[in-house]
Amino acid sequence: MKTCTKCGSTRFNQWDRCMDCRNERAKVRNARLEKNGGAHTSSAWKALLAATSRCQDCGRLWHDIPPRPDSRYRNVWTKDHIVPVIQGGSDDISNIRPLCYECNFKRHTKPINTSTENKNMKKIRYTVKRGRSVGAILSPHLHEDKHFVVSPTRFEKDYVRVKNEAELLDWIAKGFSVRMSNPDVKSHRSPSLISPGSIEVYEV
Ligand SMILES: [Zn+2]
Repeated sequence: MKTCTKCGSTRFNQWDRCMDCRNERAKVRNARLEKNGGAHTSSAWKALLAATSRCQDCGRLWHDIPPRPDSRYRNVWTKDHIVPVIQGGSDDISNIRPLCYECNFKRHTKPINTSTENKNMKKIRYTVKRGRSVGAILSPHLHEDKHFVVSPTRFEKDYVRVKNEAELLDWIAKGFSVRMSNPDVKSHRSPSLISPGSIEVYEV
């Protein structure tokens, strides 16, 4: 017999949480969405999905992603709010991108964490929040001299060259920004300096 991970009730056996807790959670989320504003139609979502052949985070094609463990969910893609609903993200289509369920749930259960323990297991990224490339993922930019660059200011004279990607976490913890880019996105081929507060740390 399973118990609800939230209230301990045993009145169900299919989910992690009982129906009451699930309904309660949906209510809170819907209230947040209403407060944040914005809306999109299901045809806008379908059009976005039709134009997107792969997960916007891990980059796997939809058909390369294993089926969901719970067979009642037939689709491997999920709707992800780029600026999370809990952080005031709107429900406009511009704030939505398709992510595979594995990436989406990983993102929710592993909030931004800048701790440096197990740093060989952790990587950093930045999700573009505005402009034409909203949703693009930037990674630390490897400069021609095979170094990464961190800086406490936007001035080139303060740039510090870092050899090892894992060391970046230590610099971020000290408040340094990181030069980041995405070679596949035209507007982000050259690196931008991303501040430590905007950087996401995730585990691989
Ligand atoms: Zn994914």
